[in-house]
Formats: sequence, structure tokens, C-alpha cells
Amino acid sequence: MPRDRISPTQRQRIATAAHNRCAYCHTPERIIGPFLEIDHIIPQSAGGATNDHNLTLACPLCNSHKSDRTHAIDPATGETAPLFHPNEQRWHEHFAWSEAGAVLIGKTPTGRATVAALDMNHPDVVATRRLWITVGWHPPAEDQPA
Ligand SMILES: [Zn+2]
Repeated sequence: MPRDRISPTQRQRIATAAHNRCAYCHTPERIIGPFLEIDHIIPQSAGGATNDHNLTLACPLCNSHKSDRTHAIDPATGETAPLFHPNEQRWHEHFAWSEAGAVLIGKTPTGRATVAALDMNHPDVVATRRLWITVGWHPPAEDQPA
């Protein structure tokens, strides 16, 4: 299926709405170097539209692991749960940081399924987050407990 084209203007709108960070793991674009990718939250292969409501920013790791999935297994229950929808759900209701921001915890079936499916605590990613923590780049200030 041909991919719908996303204009630079639309990409900028999506990036701004996602606060210029991965909508899943909250990795900011400014600290990873390459541009974050545009993710179809509901994949085009499943009928997802190329409109602002169905588009968000994702880092290459989250986006490649998510691929065309919309659901995954919650490792705590073994039940299928919908993956996190950044434009319909609130990140803080589904995720929290532990170990000073190095490890992402799923708080709900959706959060746990998303953390597992997107491999959001891959050892290399956790090691990188630990380096970012030492220089004060992580976790994002808005993710700190109030
Ligand atoms: Zn990510």
C-alpha cells in the first residue's frame, strides 16, 4: 500500500503536539540526534488515517517494535490489551519512571503491554537513559512527580 505523504508543515504540527519527543518513551528529539519518525497510531494497514489525530512522533526503537500492531499481551495478566494511544490517552495514567528515570513502568494493562511490545526497557536503552540522568537530561521535567 502506498504511504500517504506527510508535508513538512504537518510534520511540524505533529512534532509540536508531541512536545518534540517520542510519544511512547518520551525520548526528546534534541538528545538523540536523528529526527524522530512519524507514527501512524492505528497503522495504515489497519485503516488508520493520515491525519493529525492518528499521527504522532515516535523514536526509531518504539516505532520499529510497534510496527503494525495495535494490541499486545499484558505480561502481568497474559491478556491482550490495546497499545497506548498518545492522542486519546494520558501518558501519566499508563506509565511512570522508576530507578530515577532509567526504567519505564507500565501502570495499566495498556501501559504494561506497550512497555513490553515496544521493548521500552531494552538494556541498551536503559544504559543510555542512565547516562542522560547523570547530565540532567532525563527524565523530562514534566514527568517528575508533582
Ligand atoms: Zn520511543
